[in-house]
Amino acid sequence: MNAVAGVSVVSPANRLAAPALLLALAAGCVAWAWPAGLDGWRALAIVSAWAGSGLLAGSLLLMVREPRLAALFGGLDAQYRWHHRGGVLAYALLLIHPLALAGAGWQESPAVAWLALAPWAHHWPVWLGWAGLVLLMIGLAATFSAHLPYRRWRALHYLAGAGVLAGLGHVAALLAQLGPLWLLLPASVLAIAWRLLGADLGLAARPYRVRSVTHPAARMVEAVLEPCGPRMAVAPGQFVFAAFGDGAHFRGCREFHPFTVSGVGDDGTLAVGIKALGPCSTHVQALESGVTVRLEGPFGRFLADRAKSPQLWLAGGVGITPFIAALRAGPLAQPTVLIYLFRGAQDAAYLEELQTLAGADPQLALLAEAADGPPPLADLLGRVPQLAGRAVQLCGPAPLIDAARSELAARGVPPGAIHFELFDFR
Ligand SMILES: Cc1cc2nc3c(=O)[nH]c(=O)nc-3n(C[C@H](O)[C@H](O)[C@H](O)COP(=O)(O)OP(=O)(O)OC[C@H]3O[C@@H](n4cnc5c(N)ncnc54)[C@H](O)[C@@H]3O)c2cc1C
Repeated sequence: MNAVAGVSVVSPANRLAAPALLLALAAGCVAWAWPAGLDGWRALAIVSAWAGSGLLAGSLLLMVREPRLAALFGGLDAQYRWHHRGGVLAYALLLIHPLALAGAGWQESPAVAWLALAPWAHHWPVWLGWAGLVLLMIGLAATFSAHLPYRRWRALHYLAGAGVLAGLGHVAALLAQLGPLWLLLPASVLAIAWRLLGADLGLAARPYRVRSVTHPAARMVEAVLEPCGPRMAVAPGQFVFAAFGDGAHFRGCREFHPFTVSGVGDDGTLAVGIKALGPCSTHVQALESGVTVRLEGPFGRFLADRAKSPQLWLAGGVGITPFIAALRAGPLAQPTVLIYLFRGAQDAAYLEELQTLAGADPQLALLAEAADGPPPLADLLGRVPQLAGRAVQLCGPAPLIDAARSELAARGVPPGAIHFELFDFR
C-alpha cells in the first residue's frame, strides 16, 4: 500500500482504539463498583449503571472533532460510528438500572417495585437520573430518524449531552465517595466543551479567504480558498469543515459543513466544490471573492491507501470532488478507469476538464454518462477490463454506492478491494 502524503495509515491498533476506549471505561467503572454480597437484582442495577456511565463518557469523548484524534480512531466516520454504538449500548444499560431496582423491590412487594420507578416519590438526585434518561432517549431517538432536517437533528442530539451530565450528576449526588466520577465527570465536561467551543463554534479553526469563485455546473459553486495564516496540509481525497463568513455583499451562514477538497494548490490554496443540497449550501452559491472562511481539518482517508493495482473510481454527481482533486494533483501512478455519473449535461461538473485530463494522461480512461434514473451500472462495469483485479473507490449518494457494491460483488470484486466515501454523517 502507498499512502498519500499527509495522511496517516490506519493500523489495526487504530481500528481497535475506539472500542478499546469504550471497553476500558466501562470495565474500569464496573471493576471499581463491583457489588460484593448484594442480591442478583441490586448487583445487576449497580453493574448496568456503572457500565453505562463508563460507556457514555467514552461515547462523549468520541464526539470530539479533532484531526489527530480522528486519525487515532481510524477516521472521523469510524469514530462517529463508535460514538453512536457506545451511546446506544450505554442507554440500554442505563435503562436496565431502574428496572433492576424495581426487580429488587418486587421481591418485597409490587408497591415497593412501583416506588422504585416513580421519580416523584424520591428526592432531586433521583429526578436528575430520570431527567438524564429522558434527555438521552430524545437525543438518541433523533439519530435513528433519517428524514429529520439536519439542524433539528443536531439540536435534539445536543440534548443527549445534557442527559449525560444529568446522569453523572445523579450518581455524584447519591454516592458517598466519587470513585470513577473523578475521571468521568471532568472527561465528559471537557469533551462537551471541546466539541462545542473548538469544533461547533470554531475556536480551533484556521482563517482562510475566498480567492476566486467559479460555477462548474448548475447549482454548484467552486471556491479557491487561500490561507490567511498557517496553511493546512491536505491530501486529495480528504475533507475539511468549512464555515463561510462575510464579504462585501455576501453574508455567510457561519455553520461548519464538511466538504471534500476538489483541488490542493502548491501555494497552500484549497478548492472546494459545493452543490446546493440544502439551505446553507444553496446560500453559498452566491459566494464572492474576499469572503472570510474558517476551516477545520483535514479529515478522512479516502484515496489514501491506493494499492499499486489498477484502479476503478466511480463518482456520482458531486461525488466527483475527491477524484478531480487527485487528478489535478498530477499524472496517475496506476491505470485507472473513472466512471462518472451525473443527471444531465447541466450537472456534469468538471466534465470538460476531466476529458482534457484523460486526453493528456494515458493511465486514465473516462466513462462519463448522464443517467436520470437507475444508473446503468451493469453496462458500465461490463466495459471495465480486468474488473475483479481492480481496487475500487466509490463516492456518491448512498443508493448509488449500495447498488455499485452489490453489482461489483456479483462480478467477483472482493469486498476488501472496495472503498467508499459517503457525504453524510449522522
Ligand atoms: C465527508 C463529507 C464530504 C462531503 N463533501 C462534499 C463536497 O465535496 N461537495 C458537496 O457539495 N457536498 C459535500 N458533502 C455534503 C455537504 O456537507 C452537505 O451537502 C451540506 O453540509 C449540506 O448542508 P445544508 O445546510 O445546505 O443542507 P442540510 O439540509 O442542512 O443538510 C443536508 C444533509 O447534509 C448533511 N449535513 C449537513 N450539515 C452537516 C454537517 N455540519 N456535518 C455533517 N453533515 C452535514 C446531513 O446529512 C444533511 O441531512 C460532504 C459531506 C460529507 C459528510
